[in-house]
Formats: sequence, structure tokens, C-alpha cells
Amino acid sequence: MQGFLFSEDEQRLPAEKNTGDRSEKLSRLFDTAKECRQCSLAATRINFVFGEGNPSADLVVIGEAPGAEEDASGRPFVGRSGQLLDKILLAAGFARQEVFICNILKCRPPGNRNPLDDEIRSCSPWLIGQLQIIKPKIILVLGKVAANTLLENNLSLGAMRGKPTRWKEYDCFITYHPAALLRNPEWKKGCWQDIQMMMRHYEIICGKERDRKNATT
Ligand code: SF4
Repeated sequence: MQGFLFSEDEQRLPAEKNTGDRSEKLSRLFDTAKECRQCSLAATRINFVFGEGNPSADLVVIGEAPGAEEDASGRPFVGRSGQLLDKILLAAGFARQEVFICNILKCRPPGNRNPLDDEIRSCSPWLIGQLQIIKPKIILVLGKVAANTLLENNLSLGAMRGKPTRWKEYDCFITYHPAALLRNPEWKKGCWQDIQMMMRHYEIICGKERDRKNATT
């Protein structure tokens, strides 16, 4: 899965935040994407899972693909994994609706198998489009598969955690997928260390802006 998720000829929108119409742009992208049949997962999905949250989010959370409950509901990160993600975000000071949550693939791979290269290649324009509209400052990547895909490497999760990784104009932080934390509760401490590091970084680059937003609400 090397080198094709974000191509060199990717056309990015202007760098400045254009808050007024991002919700509308995201809605238009959803309307286009929801009928997508660019890969074979269209035949087996129950629901297209676009993602949800704040169209102006400074923090976007990205997993690899919808699971069974996400496929059934059409929403990302629901069920036990989603509840754990909500708790992690809350502990970091974010309500779920403050961030934007999505996956690299928008349809569930049968049996929750890992995404295939051709599926990633077919689906990546939707994620690219989302990021171009939202323009987050930080991306939290959940799990090795999502991180390898997004960052286009084959590193272990251990080699990617514990430090910010600059990718495009985003600072990415990588941690365990909540489903892995449910299977391995002893990893929660490491996850929390990753989240705390991310939050320290977030406060530096977004703190003043967030204080100002909170003061006006
Ligand atoms: S996984 Fe992505 S590319 Fe494949 S059908 Fe779903 S939306 Fe389209």
C-alpha cells in the first residue's frame, strides 16, 4: 500500500480556514460519495459510513474501516469501541461532536478483514476530500493499519506511537485502536500517554483559538 493514498497531483484547497461553507461542502461531498460503487465493498455493505462531527474540527480522528455495528448504523465508531473512544476523547477534554470522526474506508470489509490496496486506492478521494474541507490541525490515527495506510509506511505501531508525525500540513498522532484496547486493557496506559502528548501539542497550536471559541459560546 505504498505511495498512492495522497498523490502528488492532489489539488488542495486554499490554506486559510473558510468556516462559513465547510458544513455545506461536507454535505455536498456526502451526497456524492454515498452512492459510491468504486470497489467491491459496495456490494456487501449495509450502509455507507461517511463519518460525522464538527466540519470545522481542529482534530480529526481516523480509523481503518467500519465494523459490523458501524455498517448496521451508518455511523463511525459506535458500539463498545465507539463508547471507549468517546471516553478517551472526553478525558482529553473533547465532546464527540467537537471533533470529526471517520475511517479510511467508508464501507465495511467482510469479516472485518484489513482493507485491500485497491479498496484504499478507490476510497482515498473521499477521505482526501473530507480533510481538504475540514482542514484539521491535528489528526489522531487509530491503529496500525490506519497509520500504515495514511502515512504510507510499514512500521510497527510501537515505532509510530509516542511522537508527532508531520504529514502534509497536519501533525498526526498515532495510538491504539479502541477495539485493540478492549482486547488488551493493559495497553490503555500507553494510549493515555499518547493522548496526553497529543493534547499538549494541541494546546500549543490550538489553545488560544479554542479559548476564544469557548469564551464566545
Ligand atoms: S469502500 Fe469506498 S470506494 Fe469502496 S464502495 Fe465504499 S465508498 Fe466506494
